[in-house]
Amino acid sequence: MAAAESDREVPSALCTEFLNFSVKDTASKWLQVTDLYKEVYHHLARYVPKIYCLGPNLNPQSEDLLAQMLLQAPLEWYLCGEDPSTGLAKLEQNNQPSQLCGHVFKVGEPTYSCRECAADPTCVLCMQCFLGSVHKEHRYRMTTSGGGGFCDCGDTEAWKKGPYCQKHEPNISDSCQEDPLAHLSTDMIARCYNVFSVVLKYAVDMLTWDKEDELPLGLEPPDRSDTYYCMLFNDEVHTYEQVIYTLQKAVNCTQKEAVSFATTVDRDGRKSVRFGDFAFCELAKSVIVRNTSRQSKPLRVQVMHSSVVAHQCFALKALHWLGHVIGYSDALRRILCQVGLERGPEGENSSLVDTLMLCDSKMWKGARNVYHQLFMSSLLMDLKYKKLFAIQFAKNYRRLQTDFMEDDHERVVSVTSLSVQLFTVPTMARMLITEENLMTTIIRTFVDHLRHRDLQGRFQFERYTAQQAFKFRRVQSLIGDLKYVLISRPTEWSDQLREKFLEGLDTFLELLKCMQGMDPVVRQVGQHIEMEPEWEAAFTLQMKLTHIISMIQEWCATDERVLIEAYKKCLTALTHCHSGFADGEQPITLSMCGHSVDTIRYCVSQEKVSIHLPVSRLLAGLHVLLSKMEVAYRFPEQLPLSELSPPMLIEHPLRCLVLCAQVHTGMWRRNGFSLVNQIYYYHNVKCRVEMFDKDLIMLQAGASMMDPNHFLMIVLSRFELYHIFSSADCRKRYNRENANKDVVQQNNTLTEEMLHLIMMVVGERFEAGIGQVEGCDEIKREILHQLCIRPMAHSELVKALPENENKETGMERVIDCVASFKKPGVTGRGLYELRPECAKQFNLYFHHYSRADQSKAEEAQRKLKRQNGEDTALPPPVLPPFCPLFASLVNILQCDVLLGMLGAVLQWAVEPSAGHWSESMLQRVLHLIGMALLEEQQQLENSSEDNDVYFNFTLKMSRPGEAPSNTASVLALLENLQNAPHLEVHEGMIRWLLKTVAGIKMMRERSASTSTVTTSGSRGQEETACDKDKEERKRKAEMARLRREKVMAQMSEMQRHFINENKELFQQSLEELDASTSTSLEHSPVSSDAALACVGPRRSRPREKRQVVTCILCQEEQEIRADGKAMVLAAFVQRSTVMSKNRTRPPHDPKHYDPLFMHPDLSFGTHTGSCGHIMHSHCWQRYFEAVQAKEQRRQQRLRVHTSYDVGNGEFLCPLCECLSNTVIPLLPRTMGSSSCEQPGLGQWLKTSGQQIKAMHSAHRKLQPVSTVEETVEEECPAPEVFTVDYIPTNPYSSTIKEMLATFGTATYKVGLKVHPNEQDPRIPIMCWSSCAYTIQSIERLLVDEKKPLFGSLPCRQDDCLSSLARFGSACWTAACQPTVQGHFIRLLAALIPDPQVEASPCILDVDMLHLLVSVVLSYGSVHSQDSSGLSVDAVQLHLFHLITVAHMVQILLTSGPEEVTMEQESGEAERGEEEGACRLYNTLRTHVGSSLPEVGSGWHLWRCVKTGILPYLRGAALFFHHLHGVPAPPELHALCPGQWEVLCGYLSLPSNLLQLFHGQQELLEPLLHGWCTHPGIQQTLQGGGVLVSFPRESNSLVDLPDDYSALINQASSFTCPKSGGDKSRAPTLCLVCGSMLCSQSYCCQTELEGEDVGACTAHTFACGAGVGIFLRVRESQVLFLAGKTKGCFYAPPYLDDYGETDQGLRRGNPLHLCHERYRKIQKLWRQHNITEEIGHAQEANQTLVGIDWQHL
Ligand SMILES: [Zn+2]
Ligand SMILES: [Zn+2]
Ligand SMILES: [Zn+2]
Ligand SMILES: [Zn+2]
Ligand SMILES: [Zn+2]
Ligand SMILES: [Zn+2]
Ligand SMILES: [Zn+2]
Repeated sequence: MAAAESDREVPSALCTEFLNFSVKDTASKWLQVTDLYKEVYHHLARYVPKIYCLGPNLNPQSEDLLAQMLLQAPLEWYLCGEDPSTGLAKLEQNNQPSQLCGHVFKVGEPTYSCRECAADPTCVLCMQCFLGSVHKEHRYRMTTSGGGGFCDCGDTEAWKKGPYCQKHEPNISDSCQEDPLAHLSTDMIARCYNVFSVVLKYAVDMLTWDKEDELPLGLEPPDRSDTYYCMLFNDEVHTYEQVIYTLQKAVNCTQKEAVSFATTVDRDGRKSVRFGDFAFCELAKSVIVRNTSRQSKPLRVQVMHSSVVAHQCFALKALHWLGHVIGYSDALRRILCQVGLERGPEGENSSLVDTLMLCDSKMWKGARNVYHQLFMSSLLMDLKYKKLFAIQFAKNYRRLQTDFMEDDHERVVSVTSLSVQLFTVPTMARMLITEENLMTTIIRTFVDHLRHRDLQGRFQFERYTAQQAFKFRRVQSLIGDLKYVLISRPTEWSDQLREKFLEGLDTFLELLKCMQGMDPVVRQVGQHIEMEPEWEAAFTLQMKLTHIISMIQEWCATDERVLIEAYKKCLTALTHCHSGFADGEQPITLSMCGHSVDTIRYCVSQEKVSIHLPVSRLLAGLHVLLSKMEVAYRFPEQLPLSELSPPMLIEHPLRCLVLCAQVHTGMWRRNGFSLVNQIYYYHNVKCRVEMFDKDLIMLQAGASMMDPNHFLMIVLSRFELYHIFSSADCRKRYNRENANKDVVQQNNTLTEEMLHLIMMVVGERFEAGIGQVEGCDEIKREILHQLCIRPMAHSELVKALPENENKETGMERVIDCVASFKKPGVTGRGLYELRPECAKQFNLYFHHYSRADQSKAEEAQRKLKRQNGEDTALPPPVLPPFCPLFASLVNILQCDVLLGMLGAVLQWAVEPSAGHWSESMLQRVLHLIGMALLEEQQQLENSSEDNDVYFNFTLKMSRPGEAPSNTASVLALLENLQNAPHLEVHEGMIRWLLKTVAGIKMMRERSASTSTVTTSGSRGQEETACDKDKEERKRKAEMARLRREKVMAQMSEMQRHFINENKELFQQSLEELDASTSTSLEHSPVSSDAALACVGPRRSRPREKRQVVTCILCQEEQEIRADGKAMVLAAFVQRSTVMSKNRTRPPHDPKHYDPLFMHPDLSFGTHTGSCGHIMHSHCWQRYFEAVQAKEQRRQQRLRVHTSYDVGNGEFLCPLCECLSNTVIPLLPRTMGSSSCEQPGLGQWLKTSGQQIKAMHSAHRKLQPVSTVEETVEEECPAPEVFTVDYIPTNPYSSTIKEMLATFGTATYKVGLKVHPNEQDPRIPIMCWSSCAYTIQSIERLLVDEKKPLFGSLPCRQDDCLSSLARFGSACWTAACQPTVQGHFIRLLAALIPDPQVEASPCILDVDMLHLLVSVVLSYGSVHSQDSSGLSVDAVQLHLFHLITVAHMVQILLTSGPEEVTMEQESGEAERGEEEGACRLYNTLRTHVGSSLPEVGSGWHLWRCVKTGILPYLRGAALFFHHLHGVPAPPELHALCPGQWEVLCGYLSLPSNLLQLFHGQQELLEPLLHGWCTHPGIQQTLQGGGVLVSFPRESNSLVDLPDDYSALINQASSFTCPKSGGDKSRAPTLCLVCGSMLCSQSYCCQTELEGEDVGACTAHTFACGAGVGIFLRVRESQVLFLAGKTKGCFYAPPYLDDYGETDQGLRRGNPLHLCHERYRKIQKLWRQHNITEEIGHAQEANQTLVGIDWQHL
């Protein structure tokens, strides 16, 4: 593309026309004419093509300006009849704004909904309204908008309570019903009507125009040019990459332009990619089409005449204009609505609004968005026209949906998505149902789009093509519409509503009939199935319909007549379904225990069975309602109860339940995973309400109408267990049937499942209508049983509970009755714990437990009982009574068939022989007996007269079997089993049963007669004696068990401890040795009473001691010696900006950067950390080579990455898996020679001056000749004792030398981001710098954590610092000596001016700790050539003092102006210091002059010095301590007062630091002068550079707001900085500097080191030297990034009231900042542990490794 966007001139022809144009005249002319259409069209035909589309690029600014002048202004004038600026203002003034807020949401904007008051979850408030509403005190939900939709504030139907915020509260004096048009003159109304008609017609004409080269009548341009656009349209088929690639080829543009085109096409739906004559554009089109037609349908491209495009551009503009103008007045809005909905000449559905809607799918995205917006701000904001619009929408519904099926755009840009705005208004929905039959329409449309059916007319998803699958996904949105329509239940029914609802129900039943029995399965025998059958589509449908089915039941529950009719219809539908099923089912007769029943022969394991039975289940739901609403008792004559055939009702649900049981036993293993998945979902909380639960209810309903013996026999038969229990000698089962172990096992499991089913049929009474319970009892019971498994977090509970259509579980209402809340700590989450008094309601056979849940709950509950010292038996809980309709179900418990079964199992259990019965089978039998006993007990207790109680299980269980077999009674069997040794686990339960039997007998006997009381009493006594005995035994056993457990726990604890210990073991070795040396001070030359000093000739000398460490790899011990085998410490070197005081400094150019001096802003540093694990260097090398080799093989094979980058030298510590990228060699302590006489400062300055001169000349000789010429100074004779060409012997062994090079190179490579180069002179500098930086960072950490300077560091950090310092002092041996000497000379020159060193920095540009460390460590290279006996210690002290003075000067120069504080009282000692500070300051002022403000208060100055220098002194103490190994005085191991003096003493400093200067004033004065006259000083002080003041504060992560929605709001107004005001899709906040970034998006990708990276990665390189900490605002997720390839997500510091985070913002609970958690993140950052954290996260979760972090 040639022309840039802005440099297009407005053609001069237009300029003259523009100058001559009069808005007023044009408008007046229009006011005269009769045919306004013609006139305006003529005007537009003339001007529009002259304003828009004159070249290759559109130019929005000048186009908009001209359009406003020439096109809109006359329209506005016409509208107002006067100058629009006054006319519109008048309109606005007279306007009475509507009470609706109507704020349209931007993408990502926070929206709020009230869980308590919203009519449905789609009712939302904008932030403004929310904050002014009552709901902010309620339980609310916060989400981010996907864009579109508007604030419902002011809509009384949307809120059950508090519909208005403070701002939109209606004024009582206003009459809401008043017609807004009343305020307008008729003239005005007429004009307005005219102009809106013309403009809207024009816009509709143009936007729906589909000709490329012609214009509508009246708009043809006066002169046509041969100018065309090649217009590219958006679709959802092609990817960004495809489009970009194609465009580069077709229109020959750069990648960047192509990206921009693609972005615009994606956003606006179309974009012209070429401008020119027809042939030119046609060519581009053909290339694009050719290039994209290979795999899929080609990209849509049109060659359009420029005038067509121009008019379309203005048409959009015109719609915007309309939206803008109606904003002035509700009256104008009403007129526009009227214009839009006015029926056109073509009759029905021909209004302009209809036309737009019906062409929706043909328009491009941008056009759709604009007119949708207009609809929202006009039709949807006017209550009268909203209704009319809704009717039109409903009338067109079918066609709109059909168009949408073919549309290649997502639903958000389809007009169909407006349904949510219309259908969720309850009155509107009801009106549409009654008047437009909307319910039927939606369901019909839905069913029509699912064409594939099998022979029985059921849905068939099996062989869906991609196209059909796509359509199936689309068509699901119709269910969403249906949900909206039904979401609010009617409070009143009209006959018409009844009629239409039932008509809708009929259609719905047609739909369900197509689902009844779909996807049937047949058990696979022999071979495994070849292909997993499709099952997901059917389940998707079921899942989507779940809420609809529930809602339909709820509608029915609000009207008796509707319920009765619905029940009849449903029953008819079911009968219809069944009529087709009777294929080959032969009748058979079953008989057992003297009962017999007729049924059909059917085997689940052999014939077809389906899990989909929605019709049966709906009927089950309605049946419960008959009971709940008591319709069954009040209008029995109206119900078709006589038509019910209970066996028919239960048949299919029973088959389904049997199928589940058989799948559990493994009988269906060959049918693959699809069936397992189906069974899973059948029970899953998302589906079970309308699947499993209803099947169970249907069984209950059926059984309640049948003879219980018949019911049980049918159940036995369907479970294929009939033959086992029916045979006469079934009790001898274990004697026969040992043929096939698998079959036995199978039958055992089936029996267990069947017994469980019987328990559920009799025991599940917590649904209102089945049992006599309240609505909330059911949910209470669910929660209770969840918490019986273990304490759970709020979100876990929510997940385990079914949600209603409002996404609510109803948990909040009841949770406090059953649970108490425990708050979380810094990690973990808040948990709900079961209230102890609720444990007795625990039912081990709770119907929603999976087998796993059940065993976990059993274990937990037994444990609880043990802890409370109770019997661990878990008897069934007491149940509520049944409702009358289901009351007969209890008889199952005392029927003959059940007793027969119970007896059989008990009899089997007498024999311990394994295999023929199972523990859980017995457990279930005992449970069933318990249920029966409790039932009897309850009935006895609740009845006033005992005769009422016909339920007599105790009687039946005591009855022995019939004559021929004479089997024992159930009771006898129980008593027999009580003491069976192999049934020890059941002993408690059996005892409980027998006790209950006794209790019941007593109750009965007591009422029957009193004579037997005595005998039963004595028996009771016997029993208690027996009980006591048992109790004692039990107690002993229990104690033994507890002891055992304790021992086991201890052992495992010890084991764990041992492992941890082992890790520490190796770290401690160094530490312990050091510690032991510190106790032997008497051998040091310093007298023992002298204070400890770590630097200078008087420094304490710890006794020499061997240091022995153990290699973690070979476990061998090794002494650390200079000439020994090298030992190394695993280390991780990284660049850091954690302490940066200047994040604006651009990164250095690695090639030319001179790192010798660190700027005090510490903008980039190199940090070294270590896990403290020591290895032999050769062991490590072998390990690393192995890792490398393995990695190479792995990458070739799997192409997966690891959490570490071997190519970059990274590896994981072999012991602790800590990320490392190099090793530091361990070196022995430097001993230093103790000598007597040492030179004073003056003499040393002289000597060193001479030495430096000598070195200068020596170095010069080494340089090439050419440079020598310039320096013609005479040769400087070296002092005799200083031999410049003496090459000292290297004290280190070869392996140590090698390791010295290794670590040096690694630090250099990482610190400067360069390729390794062992020869680079900057290597030693980087090592010293890293040492200094690491010390500073640790010093800061100790301050931040409020820990003492010494003794609180973990030993790994101590070891790391020691080895860094000692390495630093040795690293010169590995480098070229003159180079290191050169560094020393230049470093020293910053303090002592040296004419031969150029460009020494000014002292304000030098970080003094870095200088100290570098100068001390580099001195070794100079000292090695000195043989005068000058001690290193003396020199170090001189250097230290000098730098300390320099630092004081630095602090005084940068100390801020005096604060206005009261003069402080100070003691005598302080007086001297203050005075000294004053004197030094005034000396400085004489040198520097007026740039230094006058300060009168010495107190202020001394305080500045003291606080400013402290971090430096502490750093120096750490440095010398680790360098020399001098133990620190005990005072520094604690946070006690008086630290200053101790610290100064330890550092051999006077506590009045100013004495350093005043004591040597005449020597230091010249230096001071030199420092102050450096040109940099003036420049910096006058604001020319970065002025850092001391002490430097620790950096913190940015402050975050307490309320998370404030962040969301902030992010929602953030626009992408690169694509002109577009909203960013993934706004991401840098927590280090607070920048908001447009992450994870094409628009903000930049190139970094030759690779495309996302905004976050790019930002980390500037802001965090490659390490970044971000908050992804939309996701509520912390993101850690390191380098380009590493990253992980981390829990955000925001928690909801339940102490849980919400990553992904899925739950929408309000979130608040948790300060502890944020501090934890900050600590990770300050400790430089982010990279390591990422490493651990990636090791733990391999999927993290695969993420393209660099594109975030
Ligand atoms: Zn609002
Ligand atoms: Zn409001
Ligand atoms: Zn509320
Ligand atoms: Zn080793
Ligand atoms: Zn380690
Ligand atoms: Zn962007
Ligand atoms: Zn940042």
